[in-house]
Amino acid sequence: MAPPPDHCPALVLNADFRPLSYFPLSLWSWQETVKAVFLDRVNIVSEYDRVVRSPTFTIRLPSVISLKEYIPATRRPAFTRFNVFLRDRFTCQYCGNPFPTQELTFDHVTPRSRGGRTTWENVVTSCSACNLIKGNRLPHVCGMLPLTPPFQPSVHELQENGRSFPPNFLHESWRDFLYWDTELEPG
Ligand SMILES: [Zn+2]
Repeated sequence: MAPPPDHCPALVLNADFRPLSYFPLSLWSWQETVKAVFLDRVNIVSEYDRVVRSPTFTIRLPSVISLKEYIPATRRPAFTRFNVFLRDRFTCQYCGNPFPTQELTFDHVTPRSRGGRTTWENVVTSCSACNLIKGNRLPHVCGMLPLTPPFQPSVHELQENGRSFPPNFLHESWRDFLYWDTELEPG
């Protein structure tokens, strides 16, 4: 049986047929997708079996679309909590353990109270426990140095890290465009 339309997101590829984003994976709802098709902004690469009908049209829902116009990647990724976690691969930079996003915080390597700034070069991913233990101490005083010295990542580096985190749902038509195909069940 065909899945309900709400379970039919489309994988969005750039004009070079690579995903616009790996993590979070660039997915559009079927409504956004159909709108883009009618505006002639995308090519349909692959479709679901699912058909939606209105009084004026019938369309098979696209499962993979590619943009007609190439969107260049911004050179410097946004400095956000999420991107800091992604740079550090969701791993606490003090104890080295991975955590789900909601259990992670970020830590100023040089505490703000000691003049440390909120920048790529001074902020690392930390679990709550390590953050609490480190407190407002300088790294060399408490002996807690980040496993990887914090740095400004490139968009490419974040994309590479994002590839390691496949989403929960992968439609089979997406596998040709992703690098997680080896982890999928044989279809
Ligand atoms: Zn930790």
